[in-house]
Amino acid sequence: MKNIAVIGAGTMGNGIAHTFAQSGFKVQLIDISEASLKRGIDTISKNLDRMVSKEKITEAQKQETLDNITTFTDVVEGVEYASLVVEAATENIDLKLKIFKQLDEACSEDTILATNTSSISITQIAAVTKRPSQVIGMHFMNPVPIMKLVEIIRGYNTSDDVTNTIMELSKKLGKIPTEVNDYPGFVANRILMPMLNESIETLYNGVAGVEEIDTVMKLGMAHPMGPLQLADFIGLDVCLSILNVMYDGFKNPKYAPCPLLVNMVRAGKLGIKSGEGFYDYSESRKAEHVAKQFLK
Ligand code: NAD
Repeated sequence: MKNIAVIGAGTMGNGIAHTFAQSGFKVQLIDISEASLKRGIDTISKNLDRMVSKEKITEAQKQETLDNITTFTDVVEGVEYASLVVEAATENIDLKLKIFKQLDEACSEDTILATNTSSISITQIAAVTKRPSQVIGMHFMNPVPIMKLVEIIRGYNTSDDVTNTIMELSKKLGKIPTEVNDYPGFVANRILMPMLNESIETLYNGVAGVEEIDTVMKLGMAHPMGPLQLADFIGLDVCLSILNVMYDGFKNPKYAPCPLLVNMVRAGKLGIKSGEGFYDYSESRKAEHVAKQFLK
């Protein structure tokens, strides 16, 4: 595998592009928005600068990484030579089904189609393609260049060959892949999201304030970040989408999103990416919050 196309240059897409490019792959980074592509490349460049200043990579390695990335706004053009496509567009089922139909038509028949979805069924996504055995979940964690885990999700029809190829490829990126089956939320979010939702419910019920809830979980459970800070970091809209997928998928009220989370998303308070969530991320504070995560 040499050419990897990444769809979406947002929080996850730029991290995925960064990681492949730093491991020597040629990356075609695709987004419908020019502004997102520009922001994505700026973020990669800043994160590489941080690695240079910490002497984790050299200036030359930074430049090689950036040179390995080409940007596109046209999907068909971007995926022309790709052996693997990793889709990291917005968490929305209709959008993902539309993208996978388009990828199936545009890509060569050997191309593996992976999705970084946090919760949407791999089997359902695969079913809109003519290659369901070549569709797989490749769920990177945020921030991608730092976090070791990749949750590898086998759809109902994903082949052993494709699973093994993606497991080996993840190791080449310096990651630790873990294979799981395709049920709503997979493993990571099935366990994480109810905890985040319960923290929001605790705030909503007036049991404690934001700082107090995060302090209890950080100091009491040795979590590196408090749950409300983590929800801001993931994106409150992403958390809401994942909870809704699990709520619909299991038909179990324990996954029902807290009304406070629903209201905050409606009000456009999405966490770090919108500048406000449970905490304030005005420009100066935002850099400080993000840097803290990367320098850990
Ligand atoms: P984001 O909102 O930061 O970025 C999404 C990007 O997709 C945007 O730049 C948008 O312009 C682009 N996009 C939308 N439609 C597109 C299309 N048709 N073609 C190309 N690009 C398109 O979202 P994100 O947080 O990076 O999440 C991306 C995916 O990764 C989602 O499936 C999400 O569930 C998953 N994920 C997110 C996290 C997290 O912590 N945020 C962690 C793991 C997985």
